[in-house]
Amino acid sequence: MLKNEVKTTCSYCGVGCGIIVKKDSNNKIYVEGDKDHPVNKGMLCSKGMNLHYVANDTSDRILYPEMRWSRSHPRERVSWDDALDRAASVFKSIIKKHGPDSVGFYVSGQSLTEEYYIANKLTKGFLGTNNIDTNSRLCMSSAVVGYKKTFGEDSVPISYADIELADCFLITGANPAWCHPILFRRLEKHKEENPDVKIIVVDPRKTDTANFADIHLQLIPGTDIILYNAIARSIFERGLINEEFINNYTEGFDKYKEQLGETTVKEASKLCGVSEKDIRKAADVIGLAKGFISMWAMGLNQSVVGTDKNFALLNLSLITGQVGKPGSGPFSLTGQPNAMGGREVGGMANLLAVHKDLMNEEHRREVAQFWGVDKISPTPGLTATQMFDALESGKLKAIWIACTNPLVSLPNTHRVEKAMKNAKFVVVQDISFKSDTVAYADLVLPAAAWLEKEGTMTNSERRISYLPKEINAPGEARPDVEIFCDFAQRMGFRGFNYNSAEEIYDEYAAMTKGTNIDVSFLNYDRLKNEGTFQWPVSEYRHPGTPRLFQDKKFYTPSQKAIFNIPAGIVNTSLQPNEAYPLILTTGRVRDQWHTMTKTGKVSRLKTHYPRPVLEINPVDAYLSKIKDGDITEIKSENGTVRVRAKVTENIGKGVVFLPMHWGKQLQSDLNRANNLTNTHIDPQSKEPDFKFTRVSVSKY
Ligand code: SF4
Repeated sequence: MLKNEVKTTCSYCGVGCGIIVKKDSNNKIYVEGDKDHPVNKGMLCSKGMNLHYVANDTSDRILYPEMRWSRSHPRERVSWDDALDRAASVFKSIIKKHGPDSVGFYVSGQSLTEEYYIANKLTKGFLGTNNIDTNSRLCMSSAVVGYKKTFGEDSVPISYADIELADCFLITGANPAWCHPILFRRLEKHKEENPDVKIIVVDPRKTDTANFADIHLQLIPGTDIILYNAIARSIFERGLINEEFINNYTEGFDKYKEQLGETTVKEASKLCGVSEKDIRKAADVIGLAKGFISMWAMGLNQSVVGTDKNFALLNLSLITGQVGKPGSGPFSLTGQPNAMGGREVGGMANLLAVHKDLMNEEHRREVAQFWGVDKISPTPGLTATQMFDALESGKLKAIWIACTNPLVSLPNTHRVEKAMKNAKFVVVQDISFKSDTVAYADLVLPAAAWLEKEGTMTNSERRISYLPKEINAPGEARPDVEIFCDFAQRMGFRGFNYNSAEEIYDEYAAMTKGTNIDVSFLNYDRLKNEGTFQWPVSEYRHPGTPRLFQDKKFYTPSQKAIFNIPAGIVNTSLQPNEAYPLILTTGRVRDQWHTMTKTGKVSRLKTHYPRPVLEINPVDAYLSKIKDGDITEIKSENGTVRVRAKVTENIGKGVVFLPMHWGKQLQSDLNRANNLTNTHIDPQSKEPDFKFTRVSVSKY
């Protein structure tokens, strides 16, 4: 390493690429891919390789705290003391009058593990409410329930290194060519070197990922369970199930078989819009594979039946015995850099730290004892969308939003605006004034960004990395942990007097001792000197654990993996009708990230997809008298969007697509896809139904 070089991790997606940061003679930083990093081996995608523009440009940064005394006054600059004293005094008075469940925290999968841990300790341990949730609720919560019920714990079994060992991939509800590009590069290379490797893609759109597939199953949105069950039935009919694995290492197969028996492959083909031939072809490829990996992301999870879709998909790995061996297993592709770390420290309203369960009395007692508090409330906290429902109804009075922009990312954004206006007190802790949410804040707190603070993150394959502080935060911005701890102390809570992020990490690591995510033998020194590690790291000199369940012992009480049966095979979203005849599905584009507060600053990232457009099939365009490039008005029961049309065969008939990134960046909220989306949630995971909203489309 040269002087002035530092190794860190990309702050965007869950792939978790290693980056080397260097400084030029003007003290400006620039970035390169880390050739020695096990994930990306020197490669970076367009977002990662432009990160230095984001880090060097402080023009949009929030530089000092701002506060307003009432909604009729503008916010004005205040000192940190005044800002946090006011926050503490308002939180104390609301809690005294309305109880602890009248306040809540909404945090982010971009938060570092130490920040996530402290925010959860503060809320669940000391404020006395479980009202802390995260934008990861919008991303992987259906997968979390799927893993917990199938394997007994929220545990991703495999690694990226398994990609090169597999010969069959089923990619569903994901477009890694755009959204997890470096992982996809690995997949492309593997296929180039091994042409017999088969790739099956399930997607209603012909994405770049689908164009790369050997088999593209272009299903009707919402029919995933029908399709996976049909594939399973076909595997079963062809005698390709792994009976030895099913009999010795699983439970619940008979009930699953019963459900498979209810719908023939032919019937399923009609329901999901995929030919019987293609279903059987996919089933044969999966059933005959030596190593089968399924990969999925939000396209599967963001549904009213997202958890059931996960069950149906995970069951494919169980009937084929493709878990716990090289090159096989289910692999959820997290969208954010530290969604996994958040889950580890209990960063959701229904979780406790170190994968303990909020509904388990013994677990609550253990966590309370560790933190030195009397008890943890047994009442489940409000989840992301529930929190904003509660603000709107007045049940929740105060909200603290850190590192996320719900005014663009949550469904039905007009309802979120109403909720924010109705809140008694809104704190926004962020790096950028470009976050649309800042406009609603009574108190704005400037936070330090990537490279301006230290901490750890965990990527999609359970890999923990250390991120150093390399540059000073601009103005008076402070690391999020410092802000949370300072607030906690002003609330009068003991146990927040840390001298460094490392002390917080050590406390968390000690808490993991003896659990399935044990990192008690992994400290900052090892992370700095030896690189990244996959948990568990449970002994002195332990090298980390690339693959779980190799002994076929799962974390369930019986140590067997469980076939969970979807409650039904039909999607329960509101179906299209005469007034709203099309299905809107939303998603991401290659060069933008979430709500564009970072990638939106980089000119060269705007060239690929400069503004949002509506993808519409030629038949639907013809019926609506829309030509390519026309301005269209898209309406749902929740709102309106006006953007130009892109008429394309890449999207199936009856379905339209809008990217989700744009807020008011183009001076209008009519670009915002989430004006349209509905607030229905999966009853098990509470994840919103972003991928299925009925809409009408007309020429404007
Ligand atoms: Fe960053 Fe993800 Fe791109 Fe890697 S693939 S450089 S982690 S955005």
